[in-house]
Amino acid sequence: RERTFIAVKPDGVQRGLVSDIIGRFERRGYKLVGLKLLVPSAALAKEHYADLSSKPFFAGLVDYMTNGKAPVIGMVWEGPSVIKQGRVMLGATDPKAAGPGTIRGDYCLSIGRNICHGSDSAESAQKEISLWFGGRGEV
Ligand code: ATP
Repeated sequence: RERTFIAVKPDGVQRGLVSDIIGRFERRGYKLVGLKLLVPSAALAKEHYADLSSKPFFAGLVDYMTNGKAPVIGMVWEGPSVIKQGRVMLGATDPKAAGPGTIRGDYCLSIGRNICHGSDSAESAQKEISLWFGGRGEV
């Protein structure tokens, strides 16, 4: 049973897009198996984005995720090819390249405010589910 980690970032929560994003995955037929609303700690955000720690936008990205102006919705979704299809449903990381019909393609234009996150591989999905939901198989 394939699982992925999908998050609605603070801009998506602040803009009221949570139900739309959940609805897209539900209507597609995927199963919601974990969901939490939280302001992530700096440690969690830094670990989540560890691959990007050398990038110039890293500090701003961590601040944005953790400053508490809006929380994050962290979710685990389950179903066939959900890792790859989740990324397809999100659209390209840079919304200027995201096609219509995708979440980013429908709702945003700025890479620094791209609404959502989805695991990019089986390895990332496993790591991110453990990180956000605890390592003891809570979901
Ligand atoms: P995500 O992990 O959020 O689904 P991704 O894996 O498609 O995105 P990455 O290159 O890992 O893309 O970037 C992770 C996140 O870092 C992006 O979603 C975006 O929020 C932020 N980011 C990436 N590039 C930039 C940039 N040039 N300026 C500001 N933020 C950026």
